[in-house]
Amino acid sequence: MRIVLFGPPGAGKGTQSKLLRERYQATIIATGDMLREEVHQETPLGREVRRYMEQGMLVPDELVIGMVERRLRRLKNGRFVLDGFPRTVAQAEALGRLLARLHLPLQAVISLEVPAEEIIWRLSQRRICDACGETFHLTFRPPPEDGRCPVCGKGPIIQRPDDRPEAIARRLAVYEAQTEPVKAYYATNGLLHRVSGLGEVEEVHRRIVKLLEGRPALATM
Ligand code: AMP
Repeated sequence: MRIVLFGPPGAGKGTQSKLLRERYQATIIATGDMLREEVHQETPLGREVRRYMEQGMLVPDELVIGMVERRLRRLKNGRFVLDGFPRTVAQAEALGRLLARLHLPLQAVISLEVPAEEIIWRLSQRRICDACGETFHLTFRPPPEDGRCPVCGKGPIIQRPDDRPEAIARRLAVYEAQTEPVKAYYATNGLLHRVSGLGEVEEVHRRIVKLLEGRPALATM
């Protein structure tokens, strides 16, 4: 499987990619997580991208494209789920060229559709483990009171700086202006499939699986 999971911040791309990884042994390429790791490690790239991320702005295309290219070249079994990339039409075009060179053409773009009010609610309730990135939700999956992450045993559990209200508003505006057009780009070449991102995690997962397995080539290649 070679797919893009597409959607606004907070649509559930991270959660759904993990379930797809389990089911199809695909590698997750999540640019937001990779960039946060660079910031955490204080690498030269991390120092360059930090302020864009904290303000909820997009990191320059060439930096993200280079990072994705390096990751795709190390791929083992040719199966991937891209999460959070591409976020601009220029990135989508660069991805197309890169995948053609690697003989790994994209099979589908799954757009998780979630209304704006729900997105704002989800992002403001989101907390993450600062060590491993595991996500929590103050209402539906409250973080442990002792601040120790149940997944990695570390922590602390924090609010992402870009999940604060000012940054959320910026990210949604950036999404509308720069990322939404990517959907039209993939709709014109027939790769786009829309799936409702509302409801329980498992329910959304089943919708995606149904879509993929209704097209056997997508799930098995
Ligand atoms: P995410 O975890 O996917 O919400 O990404 C967090 C932040 O990382 C975004 O708000 C951007 O600042 C940056 N980022 C992640 N992916 C990309 C991308 N494909 N292009 C540009 N910036 C990105």
